[in-house]
Amino acid sequence: MADSDSKFGTLYVVATPIGNLNDFSPRAVECLKSVDLIAAEDTRHSRKLLDAWGISSPLVALHEHNEQTASGRLLEKLQGGSNIALISDAGTPLISDPGQKLLPRLIEHDITICPIPGACAITTALSAAGLPTQPYWFEGFLPSKSGDRQRRLETLRNTEATLVFYEAPHRIHACLKAMQETLGAERQACVARELTKKFEEFQRGTVTELCEHFADRDKCRGEMVVLVEGNTDSSPQQQIDSDLLLSKLLQALPVKAASKLASELTGENKNALYQRALQIKESE
Ligand code: SAM
Repeated sequence: MADSDSKFGTLYVVATPIGNLNDFSPRAVECLKSVDLIAAEDTRHSRKLLDAWGISSPLVALHEHNEQTASGRLLEKLQGGSNIALISDAGTPLISDPGQKLLPRLIEHDITICPIPGACAITTALSAAGLPTQPYWFEGFLPSKSGDRQRRLETLRNTEATLVFYEAPHRIHACLKAMQETLGAERQACVARELTKKFEEFQRGTVTELCEHFADRDKCRGEMVVLVEGNTDSSPQQQIDSDLLLSKLLQALPVKAASKLASELTGENKNALYQRALQIKESE
C-alpha cells in the first residue's frame, strides 16, 4: 500500500469501529495487516480488536500525553521508509482523538497521509437523528466546568447549523440543562446513545424533554452524541447581541432589572442573563 514514488513511508489514518466490530472495512483490516507499525491511543485496548481480526503488526502508543515525543519518533521511522497506521480507541482518528500534533509535523516533512475512512460517531448520529445535516457544526466535548460550558454555549447560540456535541454520560444532564438555558428550551434535539451497539437508542424531542428524560441517572449510560437544531429564529430580537445589550442596560439599571429587560427583549433565559450581567459587572 506504500507510495512507490517516495522513499519515505506513508502514514495511514485508519478508522476502527465505534461499537459493532463488523463496521471495520476490509481495506482498513488489510492496511493494518500490511503496515510496519500501528500507532494507537491505548495499545492494550487496540490489541484486543486487532487480535480479533488476526492483525499482528507491532503497536506503539500515541496519546495526548506523549504525542509530542512520539511524533518525532514516528517521523524518523517514516523518513526511514516504514509505513505506519494511526488508529484511536474507536472511530476516526483526530476526531476528538490524538493526532492533531502529529499530522502537521508529518505534512511539513512531506510525508504522504492516506486516510482509510470508516465509522465516526458524528456522521453515524447525524445520519439517523432526523435533524438538518447541512450545515452542521461539530463542537466535540464542551468544557467540563459549568461557567466555561455556559460561555461556550453562548457563542453558539446564534449558529444556524445543527450543533453536534460529544458528551460523557455523567455530564449529560448538566449539559442539557445548560443548553436549555442558553440555546433555548424549545429547540429540537436528539441524544444518540450507544451507536451501532446492542442498546443503541435515539432520544428525540425538545431540549427540555430530553433534559427531563436524562434527569433519571439510570438512563445516563453509555456513549452519547448530542445533536441540537440550529437557531432557526431569524426575528430581529434573536439577532441582538445580548452581551452588548446587557452592557448598555447596566449603565442605567441594576443587575436584576437589566437582565429582566434583556430577557424580555431577546427571549433568552432570565437566570442565564442575570449570571452574565454579574460577570460583566465584575469585569468592569
Ligand atoms: N474518534 C471517535 C469518532 O470517530 O467518533 C470519537 C472519539 S471521542 C474520544 C469519544 C466520544 O465519541 C464519546 O464520548 C461519545 O461522545 C462519542 N462516541 C463514540 N462512540 C460512540 C457510540 N458508539 N455511540 C455514541 N457516541 C459515541
